[in-house]
Amino acid sequence: MILILLGPPGAGKGTQAKLLASEFKVPHVSTGDMFRDHKARGTPIGRKVQSIMDAGGLVTDDVTNEMVKERLGRPDVANGFILDGYPRTAAQAQYLDLLLHSLGRQITRCLSYEVAEEVLVERMSGRRSCPKCGTVYHVSQNPPKRDGFCDRDDTGLVQRDDDKPETVRKRLQEYRSKTEPLRQFYRDRHLLTEIEGVGTPDGILAVTKKALGR
Ligand code: AMP
Repeated sequence: MILILLGPPGAGKGTQAKLLASEFKVPHVSTGDMFRDHKARGTPIGRKVQSIMDAGGLVTDDVTNEMVKERLGRPDVANGFILDGYPRTAAQAQYLDLLLHSLGRQITRCLSYEVAEEVLVERMSGRRSCPKCGTVYHVSQNPPKRDGFCDRDDTGLVQRDDDKPETVRKRLQEYRSKTEPLRQFYRDRHLLTEIEGVGTPDGILAVTKKALGR
């Protein structure tokens, strides 16, 4: 089971990817999470991508492809994986094709989550997360019990730097110009399924599973 999750930032790819990963018992491979981890650990990659990420731009294809190649070389992906946030450019999609071909593997399906732009901005600017355990909240749609604090460990919630309004607009622009064309790329390969990314996470998961015939 090799799934690619496409969709604009804030479409709920990360949430669906986690649910699908636990459903199909395969790893969730999120390039965004991997870059955030590099940033937090202050690695050479982390230092390189910090300003690009904070400004809402895309990390270069070379750095991203190399990181994905290393990740997909690990044994835990033997039964499949869920790609979240990769590929994001035509060059990455072509690289992934070659990489999977060299590994003798094939993409099962590309799921594209569609959400209207004003909903995306609302979702991302209200998103808050716990820096300790990673639980994600929304100030109005999924608020914590105590305003500003994590339900699980009472840590003060934070807003991702790139969820600030001006950065959100830049990320959406990058998506429209560089990533959205990949829908056609996968449609041409008869791999694309479009899913309306509106509703509860479980409801969207049910639609996704149905689309996968599961
Ligand atoms: P995400 O959590 O997927 O929205 O990713 C957060 C940020 O990480 C993006 O805004 C980019 O700066 C960077 N990033 C993640 N995945 C990629 C990718 N495939 N190509 C380039 N940059 C990426």
